[in-house]
Amino acid sequence: MAGSLVAREENCIFCKIVAGEVPSSRVYEDETCVAFLDIAPIRPGHTLVVPKDHTPNLAELDPETGGHLFATGQKITAALYGGLGCDGVSVFLADGAAAGQDVFHSHLHLLPRFEGDGLGSAFRADEEEMAHRGELDQVAEKIESSLRET
Ligand code: AMP
Ligand code: ZN
Repeated sequence: MAGSLVAREENCIFCKIVAGEVPSSRVYEDETCVAFLDIAPIRPGHTLVVPKDHTPNLAELDPETGGHLFATGQKITAALYGGLGCDGVSVFLADGAAAGQDVFHSHLHLLPRFEGDGLGSAFRADEEEMAHRGELDQVAEKIESSLRET
C-alpha cells in the first residue's frame, strides 16, 4: 500500500509522490517501488523507478531493494519498447550532486531512445584517448583496495 510502513523524509518530493500526496503519471507500482513519468522528460516516456523507502543514495540502498529496482527497470524497459516503439533505452542513475543528482531519494532513470535522436552517448570516450594499461592498473588497484577495506 502506497505510503504505509515506508521510511520517509518530510520534504522529499518522491516520498510525497509515493504517498500519493503529489500527482504523478504512474506506470507501475508494487509493494517495494513505483514508476512514473519524469515531469521534465528528456524525451517523451522518460520514466523514473523509485523505491518506496526514502534512501538518499546508492550506498544506503538496501541491496535487495536495489535488485528489485533493477528488475523493475527491466520490466518497464520492455514496456517502453512495446508501448512506445523505441529503438533503445538508456538506463542511468545519478549518485551524488557531482553526478547530477537533484532529488536525494535514489532512483533509476529509463530514457526511451530512437535512432538519430541526437542525444548520443554522454560518456563515450574517444578511441584515440584509450588509457595505457599501467594507468588502468593503478586506478584498479585503488578501487580494489577500497573494496578490500569494506
Ligand atoms: P536526478 O537529477 O537524477 O536526481 O533526477 C531527478 C528527476 O526528478 C529529474 O529528472 C526531475 O525532472 C524529476 N522530478 C522532479 N520532481 C518531479 C515530480 N514532481 N514528478 C516527476 N518527476 C520529477
Ligand atoms: Zn524520499
